[in-house]
Amino acid sequence: MYNVAIVGGGPAGIFSALELVKLKPDWKILLIEKGKKIEQRVCPMRMGQQKCLSCNTCGLLCGWGGAGAFSDGKLTLTPEVGGHLVDYMEYKEVEDLIEYCDNIYLDHGATKTVFGTNRADFADIEHKATLAELKLVHSPVRHLGTERALAVLKSMQDYLSDKIDIINNEQVEDLIIEDKVIKGFSTKQGNKYMANYVIVAPGREGADWLSKQFLKHKVEMVNNAVDVGVRVELPAAVMEPITSRLYESKLIYHAPTFGDEVRTFCMNPNGEVVNENYNGISTVNGHSYADKKTPNTNFALLVSKKFTEPFHEPIKYGQHIASLANMLSGGILVQRFGDLLDGRRSTPQRIKESIIQPTLSCATPGDLSLVLPYRQLLSIIEMLYALDKIAPGVASRYTLLYGIEVKFYSARVLVSDKLETMGVKNLFAIGDGAGVTRGLMQASASGVYAARTIAKR
Ligand SMILES: Cc1cc2nc3c(=O)[nH]c(=O)nc-3n(C[C@H](O)[C@H](O)[C@H](O)COP(=O)(O)OP(=O)(O)OC[C@H]3O[C@@H](n4cnc5c(N)ncnc54)[C@H](O)[C@@H]3O)c2cc1C
Repeated sequence: MYNVAIVGGGPAGIFSALELVKLKPDWKILLIEKGKKIEQRVCPMRMGQQKCLSCNTCGLLCGWGGAGAFSDGKLTLTPEVGGHLVDYMEYKEVEDLIEYCDNIYLDHGATKTVFGTNRADFADIEHKATLAELKLVHSPVRHLGTERALAVLKSMQDYLSDKIDIINNEQVEDLIIEDKVIKGFSTKQGNKYMANYVIVAPGREGADWLSKQFLKHKVEMVNNAVDVGVRVELPAAVMEPITSRLYESKLIYHAPTFGDEVRTFCMNPNGEVVNENYNGISTVNGHSYADKKTPNTNFALLVSKKFTEPFHEPIKYGQHIASLANMLSGGILVQRFGDLLDGRRSTPQRIKESIIQPTLSCATPGDLSLVLPYRQLLSIIEMLYALDKIAPGVASRYTLLYGIEVKFYSARVLVSDKLETMGVKNLFAIGDGAGVTRGLMQASASGVYAARTIAKR
């Protein structure tokens, strides 16, 4: 019997464990993770494999460190981005939690440099953005890069390994709930683990599993907006005036035709585009290394759409669009912006003739207009033209658009201001999988916050 059992070894689960160990060193804590230990994690595509093999447990997303392990390791140091924690607590409290978690990252070896702290340094960018009807969100960033992110998370694994029970390669299947109180969970491997408190932190990869569990156990959820879009890749020189000072720019636009919010997300200067696999569905993402540079910069353009009654399955909607891209291309589809505007598919020859070459070489040249709904596609085109006003060259005919990028955090668990599920006592739902966060820093902060509540009880 455990005092606390944590499901998922991503930043949210790890920071819950770190805080619990600090506050309650004598408690029995379990962290269960369906993927491997961090040093054993591999993604065949990172080892030179041309196509995503749709591994049973995706090495890129699952295992110690979760999606954070091979992430770009951009720690955004503001409550403004990366999640919804300000919906549950005071703004100042989120700021304090971020500072607290940032110090833990530093203790475990995070880089010291922070980009975008002094607003005066980028007043000209802000000015141009305003004229282009774009909102530039002030968000200082500490950039680890993929190699450093791995080392920092490995240091946390080493620190916790003799203080808590860590079980890898075991997948939680069913929550055990009696009289609206959590009792523990059973696993696919046939084991049962009982605990006074359970923290579920399964990430976006486990978001579908979590929403099915909550549907089954009648735990209430609300629809978040569905974020669907593309990953943009262009010559690093185009974004350099912005990325050299801000590292990444968070820009928000309300596309004129439909009025939907379009935002830039996860910008990776000199980075590479990657393929990830959510239970058999290939989607696209990006990251960069601290030392290894490519000539390209990539970022996502996500269009947010919130569905109203009677639709209740935003995750399925995202999966459906991504599956369509998979069906047409065998995985990830890539198209030049000029070809999209000309109403024709991109071909290997057209891409070869471009001034920029895709860093995700397995992407199949194709036609995004056969995949994305008109609403999202037009909003993306309008956003590219707006961005072109602050970074000329964004709307170049050579700009590459990869599809589909989708964020699976669209079903938000109904939790209290303590992140405890409304319907089930002592069950806490945190991180990206619960829909309350969407980035490393707020996911980590949600873990600390849940741990403190539990320790206080
Ligand atoms: C390529 C890439 C680049 C990124 N770059 C950045 C960035 O620069 N900055 C940023 O802020 N964010 C970035 N992110 C997003 C960031 O990684 C996530 O926001 C963050 O990891 C979420 O943390 P989490 O703990 O909620 O979930 P995750 O990190 O997804 O961890 C969840 C864990 O739970 C495990 N799990 C799921 N279901 C079960 C189950 N049933 N039983 C047992 N275990 C289970 C999974 O295997 C996984 O390891 C990036 C993500 C990717 C993929």
